[in-house]
Amino acid sequence: MTSTVIEPGADGLYHPATEAEVIALVAFARANGKQLRARGSTHSVAWSIYTDPVAGTPPNRTLEQTPPPREINIAFDKMRALHWADEANGVIEVEPGINLGWDPQDPFGVSTLENSLLHQIFERGWAVDTLGGITHQTLAGFTATGSAGGSTRYGWTNAIAFRVVDGMGNAEWIDQSHPQFDAFGTSMGLLGVVTKIRMQLIPIYNIEGTEVTTPITGADAPVDLFGPGSASQPGLRQYLEETPYTRIVWWPQHGAERIQTWKAKRVPASNENLVPYQQFTPDFGGQTLQFLGALIFVSVGNTSPVRIIKLIWQKVGIYLENLGFVLSQGSGSGLSRFLTFLLGCVVGIIALAIGSVLAFFNGLMRNIFARLLPVFQPMTKPGEETKFSDWYWRSLCMDNTVSDGLLGTEFTEIWVPIQHAETVMNLYQKMFEDGGDAATGYFSTEVYGGPPSKGWMHPGYTDGSDAYKDGTVRLDVYWYRDNKGIPNADEAFFEQYWKVLRDNGIPFRLHWGKFVPRFDFAEWAAYYQANLPRFDDFMTLRAARDPDGIFFTEYWRLRLTGSA
Ligand SMILES: Cc1cc2nc3c(=O)[nH]c(=O)nc-3n(C[C@H](O)[C@H](O)[C@H](O)COP(=O)(O)OP(=O)(O)OC[C@H]3O[C@@H](n4cnc5c(N)ncnc54)[C@H](O)[C@@H]3O)c2cc1C
Repeated sequence: MTSTVIEPGADGLYHPATEAEVIALVAFARANGKQLRARGSTHSVAWSIYTDPVAGTPPNRTLEQTPPPREINIAFDKMRALHWADEANGVIEVEPGINLGWDPQDPFGVSTLENSLLHQIFERGWAVDTLGGITHQTLAGFTATGSAGGSTRYGWTNAIAFRVVDGMGNAEWIDQSHPQFDAFGTSMGLLGVVTKIRMQLIPIYNIEGTEVTTPITGADAPVDLFGPGSASQPGLRQYLEETPYTRIVWWPQHGAERIQTWKAKRVPASNENLVPYQQFTPDFGGQTLQFLGALIFVSVGNTSPVRIIKLIWQKVGIYLENLGFVLSQGSGSGLSRFLTFLLGCVVGIIALAIGSVLAFFNGLMRNIFARLLPVFQPMTKPGEETKFSDWYWRSLCMDNTVSDGLLGTEFTEIWVPIQHAETVMNLYQKMFEDGGDAATGYFSTEVYGGPPSKGWMHPGYTDGSDAYKDGTVRLDVYWYRDNKGIPNADEAFFEQYWKVLRDNGIPFRLHWGKFVPRFDFAEWAAYYQANLPRFDDFMTLRAARDPDGIFFTEYWRLRLTGSA
Protein backbone atom coordinates (compact mmCIF):
# COMPACT_ATOMS: atom_id res chain seq x y z
CA MET A 1 0.00 0.00 0.00
CA THR A 2 1.46 3.38 -0.96
CA SER A 3 0.65 6.59 0.81
CA THR A 4 1.18 10.28 0.24
CA VAL A 5 3.71 12.19 2.30
CA ILE A 6 1.95 13.73 5.28
CA GLU A 7 2.58 17.33 6.29
CA PRO A 8 4.20 18.18 9.62
CA GLY A 9 1.99 19.43 12.44
CA ALA A 10 2.17 22.92 13.90
CA ASP A 11 4.53 21.46 16.51
CA GLY A 12 7.07 20.65 13.79
CA LEU A 13 6.58 16.90 14.22
CA TYR A 14 5.17 14.44 11.70
CA HIS A 15 2.26 12.42 13.09
CA PRO A 16 1.72 9.33 10.92
CA ALA A 17 -1.36 7.22 11.60
CA THR A 18 -0.30 4.15 9.62
CA GLU A 19 2.80 2.22 8.72
CA ALA A 20 2.23 3.21 5.08
CA GLU A 21 2.60 6.86 6.09
CA VAL A 22 5.86 6.02 7.85
CA ILE A 23 7.15 4.28 4.73
CA ALA A 24 6.22 7.31 2.62
CA LEU A 25 8.14 9.57 5.00
CA VAL A 26 11.20 7.32 4.82
CA ALA A 27 11.03 7.35 1.01
CA PHE A 28 10.69 11.13 1.06
CA ALA A 29 13.65 11.51 3.42
CA ARG A 30 15.77 9.25 1.27
CA ALA A 31 14.88 10.98 -1.97
CA ASN A 32 15.53 14.43 -0.53
CA GLY A 33 18.66 13.77 1.51
CA LYS A 34 16.91 14.42 4.80
CA GLN A 35 17.39 12.88 8.21
CA LEU A 36 14.52 11.03 9.87
CA ARG A 37 14.12 10.10 13.53
CA ALA A 38 11.28 8.91 15.74
CA ARG A 39 10.64 10.14 19.25
CA GLY A 40 8.97 8.44 22.18
CA SER A 41 8.20 10.48 25.29
CA THR A 42 11.61 12.27 25.19
CA HIS A 43 13.02 10.83 28.40
CA SER A 44 16.36 10.33 26.67
CA VAL A 45 18.72 13.21 25.99
CA ALA A 46 17.37 15.18 23.03
CA TRP A 47 20.22 14.79 20.55
CA SER A 48 20.06 11.01 20.87
CA ILE A 49 16.40 11.16 19.84
CA TYR A 50 15.93 13.84 17.21
CA THR A 51 17.61 14.83 13.96
CA ASP A 52 20.67 17.05 14.36
CA PRO A 53 20.11 20.19 16.45
CA VAL A 54 20.04 23.51 14.65
CA ALA A 55 22.11 26.24 16.33
CA GLY A 56 22.14 24.16 19.52
CA THR A 57 18.34 23.81 19.57
CA PRO A 58 16.96 21.81 21.23
CA PRO A 59 19.55 21.63 24.01
CA ASN A 60 20.79 18.14 24.76
CA ARG A 61 18.50 17.53 27.73
CA THR A 62 15.64 15.22 28.52
CA LEU A 63 11.99 16.19 28.00
CA GLU A 64 12.70 18.50 25.08
CA GLN A 65 9.37 18.48 23.26
CA THR A 66 10.23 20.75 20.33
CA PRO A 67 12.20 19.09 17.53
CA PRO A 68 14.85 20.84 15.45
CA PRO A 69 13.40 22.36 12.27
CA ARG A 70 13.57 21.22 8.65
CA GLU A 71 14.29 17.50 8.98
CA ILE A 72 11.74 14.75 9.70
CA ASN A 73 10.95 14.01 13.32
CA ILE A 74 8.12 11.59 13.91
CA ALA A 75 5.82 11.37 16.93
CA PHE A 76 3.64 8.30 17.31
CA ASP A 77 0.71 9.80 19.17
CA LYS A 78 -1.60 8.47 16.44
CA MET A 79 -0.08 4.98 16.54
CA ARG A 80 -0.79 3.68 20.05
CA ALA A 81 -3.12 0.73 19.44
CA LEU A 82 -2.86 -2.50 21.39
CA HIS A 83 -4.09 -5.64 19.66
CA TRP A 84 -4.57 -9.00 21.39
CA ALA A 85 -2.92 -11.44 18.99
CA ASP A 86 -3.53 -14.40 21.32
CA GLU A 87 -5.19 -13.39 24.55
CA ALA A 88 -5.31 -16.90 25.99
CA ASN A 89 -1.52 -17.04 25.82
CA GLY A 90 -0.81 -13.39 26.60
CA VAL A 91 0.51 -12.29 23.22
CA ILE A 92 -0.09 -8.72 22.09
CA GLU A 93 0.98 -6.57 19.16
CA VAL A 94 1.35 -2.94 20.04
CA GLU A 95 2.02 0.23 18.11
CA PRO A 96 5.14 2.15 19.14
CA GLY A 97 3.66 5.30 20.65
CA ILE A 98 1.76 3.67 23.48
CA ASN A 99 3.00 4.81 26.87
CA LEU A 100 3.80 2.18 29.46
CA GLY A 101 1.77 4.10 32.04
CA TRP A 102 0.32 7.59 32.12
CA ASP A 103 2.73 10.27 30.88
CA PRO A 104 2.05 13.51 32.76
CA GLN A 105 4.30 15.40 30.31
CA ASP A 106 2.49 14.14 27.20
CA PRO A 107 2.34 17.19 24.90
CA PHE A 108 -0.28 15.60 22.63
CA GLY A 109 -2.93 15.10 25.29
CA VAL A 110 -3.56 11.46 24.40
CA SER A 111 -1.94 9.56 27.27
CA THR A 112 -4.15 8.33 30.11
CA LEU A 113 -3.74 5.62 32.69
CA GLU A 114 -6.59 3.68 31.12
CA ASN A 115 -5.11 3.63 27.61
CA SER A 116 -1.60 2.80 28.81
CA LEU A 117 -0.05 -0.55 27.96
CA LEU A 118 0.34 -1.68 31.56
CA HIS A 119 -3.22 -0.86 32.52
CA GLN A 120 -4.76 -2.49 29.47
CA ILE A 121 -2.90 -5.76 30.02
CA PHE A 122 -3.57 -5.64 33.77
CA GLU A 123 -7.29 -5.58 33.07
CA ARG A 124 -6.94 -8.87 31.20
CA GLY A 125 -4.73 -10.48 33.86
CA TRP A 126 -1.33 -10.03 32.21
CA ALA A 127 1.91 -8.29 33.13
CA VAL A 128 5.50 -7.57 32.09
CA ASP A 129 8.54 -8.82 33.98
CA THR A 130 10.00 -5.55 35.15
CA LEU A 131 9.61 -1.77 35.07
CA GLY A 132 11.98 1.16 35.35
CA GLY A 133 11.63 3.77 38.06
CA ILE A 134 8.93 5.53 36.03
CA THR A 135 6.38 4.36 33.46
CA HIS A 136 5.97 7.58 31.49
CA GLN A 137 8.02 6.27 28.56
CA THR A 138 6.68 4.85 25.34
CA LEU A 139 7.06 1.18 24.54
CA ALA A 140 9.32 1.85 21.53
CA GLY A 141 11.50 4.38 23.34
CA PHE A 142 11.98 2.29 26.48
CA THR A 143 12.93 -0.72 24.38
CA ALA A 144 15.20 1.15 21.94
CA THR A 145 17.60 2.28 24.67
CA GLY A 146 17.89 -1.03 26.52
CA SER A 147 16.13 0.46 29.51
CA ALA A 148 15.74 -1.76 32.54
CA GLY A 149 14.37 -2.03 36.05
CA GLY A 150 16.40 -2.54 39.22
CA SER A 151 16.83 -6.29 39.03
CA THR A 152 19.58 -8.74 38.16
CA ARG A 153 16.89 -11.38 37.70
CA TYR A 154 14.16 -9.81 35.56
CA GLY A 155 15.00 -8.05 32.31
CA TRP A 156 12.84 -6.24 29.75
CA THR A 157 12.51 -9.46 27.76
CA ASN A 158 8.82 -9.41 26.94
CA ALA A 159 9.38 -7.97 23.45
CA ILE A 160 9.56 -10.99 21.15
CA ALA A 161 9.32 -9.41 17.70
CA PHE A 162 9.70 -6.01 16.08
CA ARG A 163 8.09 -4.74 12.92
CA VAL A 164 10.59 -2.32 11.46
CA VAL A 165 10.77 -0.02 8.44
CA ASP A 166 14.38 0.16 7.25
CA GLY A 167 16.13 3.08 5.58
CA MET A 168 14.96 1.95 2.15
CA GLY A 169 11.32 1.79 3.15
CA ASN A 170 11.01 -1.99 3.53
CA ALA A 171 8.84 -3.16 6.42
CA GLU A 172 9.27 -6.60 7.94
CA TRP A 173 8.76 -8.51 11.16
CA ILE A 174 11.97 -9.48 12.93
CA ASP A 175 11.17 -12.23 15.42
CA GLN A 176 13.29 -14.39 17.69
CA SER A 177 13.99 -16.88 14.92
CA HIS A 178 15.70 -14.14 12.91
CA PRO A 179 19.51 -14.37 13.18
CA GLN A 180 19.76 -10.64 13.87
CA PHE A 181 16.85 -10.37 16.32
CA ASP A 182 19.14 -9.47 19.22
CA ALA A 183 20.38 -6.39 17.40
CA PHE A 184 16.89 -4.87 17.46
CA GLY A 185 16.29 -4.87 21.21
CA THR A 186 18.67 -1.96 21.79
CA SER A 187 18.89 -0.15 18.47
CA MET A 188 18.49 3.55 19.36
CA GLY A 189 16.45 4.10 16.20
CA LEU A 190 19.48 3.25 14.06
CA LEU A 191 18.11 0.10 12.40
CA GLY A 192 14.84 1.63 11.29
CA VAL A 193 11.52 2.90 12.51
CA VAL A 194 9.65 0.46 14.72
CA THR A 195 5.97 0.38 13.84
CA LYS A 196 4.87 -2.53 16.04
CA ILE A 197 6.22 -4.66 18.85
CA ARG A 198 4.93 -8.14 19.65
CA MET A 199 5.09 -9.03 23.31
CA GLN A 200 4.85 -12.23 25.27
CA LEU A 201 3.27 -11.27 28.58
CA ILE A 202 3.37 -13.11 31.88
CA PRO A 203 0.51 -13.70 34.35
CA ILE A 204 -0.31 -10.76 36.58
CA TYR A 205 1.41 -10.47 39.97
CA ASN A 206 1.57 -8.05 42.87
CA ILE A 207 4.64 -6.91 44.74
CA GLU A 208 5.31 -6.29 48.38
CA GLY A 209 8.30 -4.63 49.92
CA THR A 210 9.88 -2.09 52.21
CA GLU A 211 11.93 1.07 52.19
CA VAL A 212 14.31 2.33 54.87
CA THR A 213 16.75 5.18 55.20
CA THR A 214 19.85 4.24 57.19
CA PRO A 215 23.49 5.14 57.67
CA ILE A 216 25.70 3.93 54.83
CA THR A 217 27.62 1.54 57.02
CA GLY A 218 27.02 -0.20 60.33
CA ALA A 219 24.52 -2.71 61.60
CA ASP A 220 21.45 -0.72 60.52
CA ALA A 221 22.43 -0.68 56.86
CA PRO A 222 20.66 -3.50 54.99
CA VAL A 223 23.77 -4.10 52.87
CA ASP A 224 27.50 -4.18 53.45
CA LEU A 225 28.13 -1.70 50.64
CA PHE A 226 31.91 -1.69 50.83
CA GLY A 227 32.80 -5.10 52.20
CA PRO A 228 32.28 -8.77 51.45
CA GLY A 229 29.25 -9.09 53.73
CA SER A 230 28.62 -11.35 56.69
CA ALA A 231 26.02 -13.81 57.92
CA SER A 232 23.81 -10.94 59.09
CA GLN A 233 24.48 -8.43 56.32
CA PRO A 234 24.94 -9.39 52.68
CA GLY A 235 27.63 -7.83 50.53
CA LEU A 236 26.36 -5.76 47.61
CA ARG A 237 26.73 -8.49 45.01
CA GLN A 238 24.89 -11.04 47.12
CA TYR A 239 22.20 -8.50 47.96
CA LEU A 240 21.58 -7.57 44.32
CA GLU A 241 21.49 -11.21 43.28
CA GLU A 242 19.12 -12.29 46.03
CA THR A 243 16.67 -9.38 45.99
CA PRO A 244 14.20 -9.63 43.11
CA TYR A 245 13.67 -5.88 42.73
CA THR A 246 15.69 -3.23 44.52
CA ARG A 247 17.46 0.07 44.34
CA ILE A 248 19.65 1.94 46.79
CA VAL A 249 19.76 5.72 46.70
CA TRP A 250 23.18 6.79 47.95
CA TRP A 251 23.63 10.28 49.41
CA PRO A 252 27.39 10.48 49.95
CA GLN A 253 27.66 14.16 50.94
CA HIS A 254 29.96 14.61 53.91
CA GLY A 255 27.94 15.09 57.08
CA ALA A 256 24.72 13.70 55.60
CA GLU A 257 25.86 10.25 54.48
CA ARG A 258 22.88 7.91 54.16
CA ILE A 259 21.25 5.35 51.92
CA GLN A 260 17.61 4.78 51.14
CA THR A 261 17.03 1.12 50.34
CA TRP A 262 13.89 0.09 48.48
CA LYS A 263 13.22 -3.58 47.86
CA ALA A 264 10.34 -5.75 46.72
CA LYS A 265 9.42 -9.26 45.70
CA ARG A 266 6.58 -10.75 43.70
CA VAL A 267 3.49 -12.07 45.50
CA PRO A 268 0.27 -13.52 44.07
CA ALA A 269 -2.07 -11.07 42.37
CA SER A 270 -4.75 -9.59 44.59
CA ASN A 271 -7.01 -6.56 44.76
CA GLU A 272 -7.33 -6.72 48.54
CA ASN A 273 -5.59 -4.61 51.19
CA LEU A 274 -3.48 -2.71 48.71
CA VAL A 275 -0.96 -0.25 50.10
CA PRO A 276 0.79 1.55 47.23
CA TYR A 277 4.34 2.83 47.49
CA GLN A 278 4.24 6.60 47.15
CA GLN A 279 7.45 8.55 47.31
CA PHE A 280 5.36 11.71 47.35
CA THR A 281 1.71 11.67 48.29
CA PRO A 282 -0.81 13.29 45.91
CA ASP A 283 -1.81 15.97 48.39
CA PHE A 284 -0.67 19.27 49.84
CA GLY A 285 2.10 17.68 51.94
CA GLY A 286 3.60 15.63 49.11
CA GLN A 287 3.51 18.46 46.58
CA THR A 288 4.89 21.04 49.00
CA LEU A 289 7.76 18.75 49.97
CA GLN A 290 8.73 18.42 46.31
CA PHE A 291 8.49 22.16 45.85
CA LEU A 292 10.74 22.92 48.82
CA GLY A 293 13.19 20.28 47.63
CA ALA A 294 13.23 21.93 44.20
CA LEU A 295 14.05 25.31 45.75
CA ILE A 296 17.06 23.82 47.49
CA PHE A 297 18.33 22.03 44.38
CA VAL A 298 17.89 25.17 42.28
CA SER A 299 19.87 27.18 44.84
CA VAL A 300 22.76 24.75 45.25
CA GLY A 301 23.05 23.88 41.56
CA ASN A 302 23.40 27.43 40.28
CA THR A 303 25.56 30.44 41.00
CA SER A 304 23.78 33.26 39.17
CA PRO A 305 21.14 34.91 41.42
CA VAL A 306 19.17 36.03 38.35
CA ARG A 307 18.99 32.49 37.01
CA ILE A 308 18.04 31.14 40.44
CA ILE A 309 15.23 33.66 40.85
CA LYS A 310 13.92 32.90 37.35
CA LEU A 311 13.94 29.19 38.15
CA ILE A 312 12.16 29.77 41.46
CA TRP A 313 9.39 31.65 39.63
CA GLN A 314 9.10 28.71 37.27
CA LYS A 315 8.97 26.23 40.17
CA VAL A 316 6.22 28.20 41.91
CA GLY A 317 4.13 27.93 38.74
CA ILE A 318 4.75 24.19 38.43
CA TYR A 319 4.04 23.65 42.13
CA LEU A 320 0.68 25.40 41.92
CA GLU A 321 -0.19 23.58 38.73
CA ASN A 322 0.66 20.21 40.33
CA LEU A 323 -1.19 21.11 43.51
CA GLY A 324 -4.25 22.18 41.54
CA PHE A 325 -4.15 18.90 39.65
CA VAL A 326 -3.87 16.60 42.68
CA LEU A 327 -6.58 18.55 44.49
CA SER A 328 -8.87 18.24 41.48
CA GLN A 329 -8.35 14.45 41.57
CA GLY A 330 -8.72 14.09 45.34
CA SER A 331 -11.68 13.90 47.68
CA GLY A 332 -12.77 16.64 50.07
CA SER A 333 -15.26 19.44 49.71
CA GLY A 334 -14.87 22.20 47.16
CA LEU A 335 -14.25 24.68 49.96
CA SER A 336 -11.49 22.64 51.61
CA ARG A 337 -9.79 22.17 48.25
CA PHE A 338 -10.02 25.87 47.55
CA LEU A 339 -8.55 26.73 50.95
CA THR A 340 -5.75 24.19 50.46
CA PHE A 341 -4.94 25.73 47.11
CA LEU A 342 -4.95 29.16 48.72
CA LEU A 343 -2.51 27.85 51.32
CA GLY A 344 -0.33 26.64 48.44
CA CYS A 345 -0.38 30.15 46.96
CA VAL A 346 0.76 31.58 50.30
CA VAL A 347 3.56 28.99 50.49
CA GLY A 348 4.55 29.90 46.94
CA ILE A 349 4.69 33.63 47.67
CA ILE A 350 6.67 33.20 50.89
CA ALA A 351 9.06 30.76 49.21
CA LEU A 352 9.54 33.15 46.32
CA ALA A 353 10.42 35.98 48.69
CA ILE A 354 12.80 33.93 50.85
CA GLY A 355 14.26 32.08 47.86
CA SER A 356 14.98 35.35 46.03
CA VAL A 357 16.99 36.61 48.99
CA LEU A 358 18.80 33.29 49.43
CA ALA A 359 19.64 33.33 45.71
CA PHE A 360 22.30 35.88 46.57
CA PHE A 361 23.71 33.52 49.20
CA ASN A 362 23.79 30.38 47.09
CA GLY A 363 27.31 29.61 48.34
CA LEU A 364 25.88 29.46 51.84
CA MET A 365 23.17 27.08 50.63
CA ARG A 366 25.85 24.73 49.32
CA ASN A 367 27.64 24.92 52.66
CA ILE A 368 24.55 23.93 54.60
CA PHE A 369 23.24 21.38 52.07
CA ALA A 370 24.37 18.46 54.23
CA ARG A 371 22.36 19.88 57.11
CA LEU A 372 19.23 20.40 55.00
CA LEU A 373 19.26 16.94 53.47
CA PRO A 374 18.23 15.08 56.66
CA VAL A 375 15.07 17.20 56.84
CA PHE A 376 13.95 15.78 53.51
CA GLN A 377 15.49 12.35 53.88
CA PRO A 378 15.35 11.52 57.61
CA MET A 379 16.73 8.27 58.99
CA THR A 380 14.04 5.65 59.52
CA LYS A 381 13.29 5.04 63.17
CA PRO A 382 13.39 1.39 64.32
CA GLY A 383 10.16 -0.38 63.44
CA GLU A 384 8.98 2.45 61.18
CA GLU A 385 10.10 1.24 57.80
CA THR A 386 7.77 2.03 54.91
CA LYS A 387 5.83 -1.05 53.88
CA PHE A 388 3.89 -1.49 50.68
CA SER A 389 1.90 -4.21 49.00
CA ASP A 390 0.36 -3.37 45.67
CA TRP A 391 -0.28 -4.04 42.01
CA TYR A 392 3.15 -4.27 40.39
CA TRP A 393 2.36 -1.64 37.74
CA ARG A 394 1.63 0.99 40.38
CA SER A 395 4.48 0.49 42.83
CA LEU A 396 7.39 -1.13 41.03
CA CYS A 397 7.89 2.22 39.29
CA MET A 398 8.87 3.82 42.58
CA ASP A 399 9.63 7.28 41.13
CA ASN A 400 6.33 7.78 39.32
CA THR A 401 5.11 10.31 41.89
CA VAL A 402 8.15 12.55 41.42
CA SER A 403 7.33 15.68 39.44
CA ASP A 404 9.71 16.04 36.49
CA GLY A 405 9.08 19.77 36.55
CA LEU A 406 10.14 20.15 40.17
CA LEU A 407 12.64 17.38 40.83
CA GLY A 408 13.56 16.31 37.30
CA THR A 409 16.95 14.65 37.08
CA GLU A 410 19.23 13.51 34.32
CA PHE A 411 21.91 10.91 34.57
CA THR A 412 24.82 8.97 33.33
CA GLU A 413 24.28 5.28 33.97
CA ILE A 414 27.25 2.95 34.30
CA TRP A 415 26.85 -0.84 34.03
CA VAL A 416 29.70 -2.84 35.61
CA PRO A 417 30.00 -6.66 35.77
CA ILE A 418 28.61 -7.62 39.15
CA GLN A 419 31.76 -9.32 40.39
CA HIS A 420 33.32 -5.85 40.63
CA ALA A 421 30.53 -4.52 42.88
CA GLU A 422 32.61 -4.23 46.03
CA THR A 423 35.61 -2.70 44.24
CA VAL A 424 33.48 -0.15 42.43
CA MET A 425 31.77 0.98 45.60
CA ASN A 426 35.12 1.46 47.32
CA LEU A 427 36.50 3.40 44.37
CA TYR A 428 33.56 5.78 44.43
CA GLN A 429 33.65 6.09 48.20
CA LYS A 430 37.30 7.09 48.01
CA MET A 431 36.53 9.49 45.18
CA PHE A 432 33.87 11.14 47.37
CA GLU A 433 36.20 11.34 50.37
CA ASP A 434 39.02 12.84 48.34
CA GLY A 435 36.96 15.05 46.06
CA GLY A 436 34.34 16.40 48.47
CA ASP A 437 31.46 18.36 46.96
CA ALA A 438 33.02 18.42 43.50
CA ALA A 439 32.80 14.64 43.48
CA THR A 440 29.51 14.08 45.30
CA GLY A 441 27.62 16.94 43.74
CA TYR A 442 24.33 17.90 45.32
CA PHE A 443 22.18 14.95 44.42
CA SER A 444 22.37 11.20 44.87
CA THR A 445 23.62 8.17 43.00
CA GLU A 446 21.30 5.24 42.47
CA VAL A 447 22.85 1.81 42.91
CA TYR A 448 20.95 -1.11 41.45
CA GLY A 449 21.27 -4.35 39.57
CA GLY A 450 21.04 -5.00 35.86
CA PRO A 451 20.10 -8.23 34.14
CA PRO A 452 22.28 -9.95 31.57
CA SER A 453 21.03 -9.36 28.03
CA LYS A 454 21.53 -10.79 24.58
CA GLY A 455 20.98 -7.37 22.97
CA TRP A 456 24.06 -6.60 20.90
CA MET A 457 24.31 -2.98 22.02
CA HIS A 458 22.68 -3.49 25.41
CA PRO A 459 24.92 -2.41 28.32
CA GLY A 460 24.25 -5.78 29.93
CA TYR A 461 25.20 -7.76 26.80
CA THR A 462 26.69 -11.18 27.44
CA ASP A 463 27.50 -14.19 25.31
CA GLY A 464 26.73 -16.33 28.35
CA SER A 465 30.32 -17.01 29.32
CA ASP A 466 31.92 -13.58 29.68
CA ALA A 467 32.34 -11.13 32.57
CA TYR A 468 28.76 -9.87 32.17
CA LYS A 469 27.10 -13.28 32.38
CA ASP A 470 25.91 -12.90 35.98
CA GLY A 471 24.49 -9.42 35.51
CA THR A 472 25.69 -6.02 36.53
CA VAL A 473 25.79 -3.45 39.26
CA ARG A 474 24.53 -0.14 37.86
CA LEU A 475 25.58 3.28 39.09
CA ASP A 476 23.04 5.84 37.98
CA VAL A 477 24.65 9.19 38.76
CA TYR A 478 22.04 11.93 39.12
CA TRP A 479 22.29 15.48 37.85
CA TYR A 480 19.53 17.91 38.80
CA ARG A 481 17.99 18.98 35.49
CA ASP A 482 18.13 22.71 36.29
CA ASN A 483 21.76 22.72 37.37
CA LYS A 484 23.92 25.12 35.43
CA GLY A 485 26.38 23.42 33.11
CA ILE A 486 26.85 20.50 30.77
CA PRO A 487 27.57 17.49 32.95
CA ASN A 488 29.02 15.23 30.24
CA ALA A 489 31.51 17.75 28.82
CA ASP A 490 35.25 17.30 29.16
CA GLU A 491 36.26 17.66 32.82
CA ALA A 492 32.66 18.29 33.85
CA PHE A 493 30.81 16.45 36.63
CA PHE A 494 30.35 13.00 35.06
CA GLU A 495 33.85 12.57 33.71
CA GLN A 496 35.32 11.64 37.09
CA TYR A 497 32.82 8.77 37.40
CA TRP A 498 33.96 7.27 34.09
CA LYS A 499 37.64 8.06 34.60
CA VAL A 500 38.00 6.39 37.97
CA LEU A 501 36.81 3.10 36.48
CA ARG A 502 38.99 3.37 33.40
CA ASP A 503 42.03 4.30 35.52
CA ASN A 504 41.46 1.21 37.63
CA GLY A 505 40.82 -1.20 34.79
CA ILE A 506 37.17 -1.84 35.69
CA PRO A 507 35.12 -2.68 32.57
CA PHE A 508 31.84 -0.84 32.11
CA ARG A 509 29.25 0.20 29.56
CA LEU A 510 26.86 3.12 29.43
CA HIS A 511 23.08 3.46 29.10
CA TRP A 512 22.46 4.88 25.62
CA GLY A 513 19.43 7.01 26.54
CA LYS A 514 21.34 8.92 29.23
CA PHE A 515 24.42 11.12 29.12
CA VAL A 516 27.51 9.62 27.51
CA PRO A 517 30.81 11.50 27.05
CA ARG A 518 30.71 14.63 24.92
CA PHE A 519 34.46 14.76 24.27
CA ASP A 520 37.28 12.56 22.94
CA PHE A 521 34.79 10.99 20.55
CA ALA A 522 37.29 8.78 18.72
CA GLU A 523 38.65 7.40 21.96
CA TRP A 524 35.19 6.69 23.33
CA ALA A 525 34.01 5.11 20.09
CA ALA A 526 37.00 2.77 20.31
CA TYR A 527 36.09 2.09 23.93
CA TYR A 528 32.48 1.15 23.10
CA GLN A 529 33.71 -1.04 20.26
CA ALA A 530 36.19 -2.84 22.50
CA ASN A 531 33.64 -3.33 25.27
CA LEU A 532 30.67 -4.51 23.21
CA PRO A 533 31.63 -7.74 21.41
CA ARG A 534 28.81 -7.40 18.84
CA PHE A 535 29.51 -3.70 18.16
CA ASP A 536 30.98 -4.33 14.69
CA ASP A 537 28.10 -6.64 13.77
CA PHE A 538 25.66 -3.95 14.79
CA MET A 539 27.44 -1.31 12.73
CA THR A 540 27.54 -3.57 9.67
CA LEU A 541 23.84 -4.28 10.02
CA ARG A 542 23.12 -0.58 10.51
CA ALA A 543 24.95 0.33 7.30
CA ALA A 544 23.10 -2.36 5.35
CA ARG A 545 19.68 -1.30 6.63
CA ASP A 546 20.30 2.42 6.26
CA PRO A 547 22.73 2.87 3.35
CA ASP A 548 21.98 6.60 3.03
CA GLY A 549 22.37 7.25 6.74
CA ILE A 550 18.98 8.89 7.17
CA PHE A 551 18.73 7.65 10.78
CA PHE A 552 22.46 8.08 11.50
CA THR A 553 22.64 11.61 12.87
CA GLU A 554 25.81 13.44 13.75
CA TYR A 555 25.18 12.64 17.41
CA TRP A 556 25.39 8.92 16.70
CA ARG A 557 28.12 9.17 14.07
CA LEU A 558 30.36 10.98 16.53
CA ARG A 559 29.71 8.56 19.34
CA LEU A 560 29.84 5.33 17.39
CA THR A 561 32.49 6.08 14.76
CA GLY A 562 34.42 8.89 16.43
CA SER A 563 33.94 11.36 13.57
CA ALA A 564 31.09 13.43 12.21
C1 LIG B 1 13.01 10.55 35.06
C2 LIG B 1 13.61 9.42 34.26
C3 LIG B 1 13.63 8.15 34.80
C4 LIG B 1 14.19 7.08 34.08
N1 LIG B 1 14.23 5.83 34.65
C5 LIG B 1 14.87 4.83 34.01
C6 LIG B 1 14.99 3.54 34.60
O1 LIG B 1 14.50 3.29 35.69
N2 LIG B 1 15.66 2.58 33.91
C7 LIG B 1 16.22 2.83 32.70
O2 LIG B 1 16.86 1.94 32.14
N3 LIG B 1 16.11 4.04 32.10
C8 LIG B 1 15.44 5.03 32.74
N4 LIG B 1 15.33 6.26 32.13
C9 LIG B 1 15.76 6.40 30.75
C10 LIG B 1 14.56 6.14 29.82
O3 LIG B 1 13.93 4.93 30.12
C11 LIG B 1 15.06 6.06 28.38
O4 LIG B 1 15.65 7.28 28.05
C12 LIG B 1 13.94 5.71 27.38
O5 LIG B 1 14.48 5.57 26.11
C13 LIG B 1 12.90 6.77 27.28
O6 LIG B 1 11.82 6.32 26.50
P1 LIG B 1 10.99 7.38 25.66
O7 LIG B 1 9.68 6.82 25.32
O8 LIG B 1 11.01 8.67 26.37
O9 LIG B 1 11.84 7.45 24.32
P2 LIG B 1 12.70 8.64 23.73
O10 LIG B 1 13.63 9.08 24.78
O11 LIG B 1 11.83 9.66 23.13
O12 LIG B 1 13.50 7.87 22.60
C14 LIG B 1 14.48 6.93 22.95
C15 LIG B 1 15.09 6.33 21.69
O13 LIG B 1 14.13 5.54 21.03
C16 LIG B 1 14.05 5.92 19.67
N5 LIG B 1 12.69 5.65 19.24
C17 LIG B 1 11.54 6.03 19.84
N6 LIG B 1 10.49 5.55 19.14
C18 LIG B 1 10.98 4.86 18.10
C19 LIG B 1 10.40 4.12 17.03
N7 LIG B 1 9.09 3.99 16.90
N8 LIG B 1 11.23 3.54 16.12
C20 LIG B 1 12.57 3.65 16.24
N9 LIG B 1 13.17 4.33 17.23
C21 LIG B 1 12.38 4.92 18.15
C22 LIG B 1 14.43 7.38 19.66
O14 LIG B 1 14.85 7.82 18.40
C23 LIG B 1 15.55 7.39 20.68
O15 LIG B 1 16.75 6.95 20.09
C24 LIG B 1 14.75 7.33 32.81
C25 LIG B 1 14.74 8.62 32.27
C26 LIG B 1 14.17 9.66 32.98
C27 LIG B 1 14.20 11.05 32.41
